[in-house]
Amino acid sequence: MGISYIFIAHDLAVVKHISDRILVMYLGRVMEIATCDELYENPLHPYTQALLSAIPVADPVVEAQREAVPIQGEVPSILKRPSGCPFHNRCPKATERCKQETPQLHTVEGTHQVACHLF
Ligand code: SF4
Repeated sequence: MGISYIFIAHDLAVVKHISDRILVMYLGRVMEIATCDELYENPLHPYTQALLSAIPVADPVVEAQREAVPIQGEVPSILKRPSGCPFHNRCPKATERCKQETPQLHTVEGTHQVACHLF
């Protein structure tokens, strides 16, 4: 019908069921862009990985074997945005570079884009 919807949510379990293309944002910045299949099969950004690991699985055996990626600390104020990568003070993979240099969104493969120095 030529209609597009923008759906904003924190729960990626819900987002999966209605989205063709997903933008993951943190502190007002785009961290990752991918098709729904790309994002759920191969999440690249550490924030995306943490969000996906927080989705409970309705199978106790599978759930017990999953490895959680907890996010440490609190969300900083958007008025006092951290230097460099906005996620660096909560990212388990942060390096010195992350504190100083803001990663730019760039294409990794096909239409999959990520803003992270690891890629
Ligand atoms: S740029 Fe650094 S701090 Fe930011 S998500 Fe990537 S590894 Fe983590």
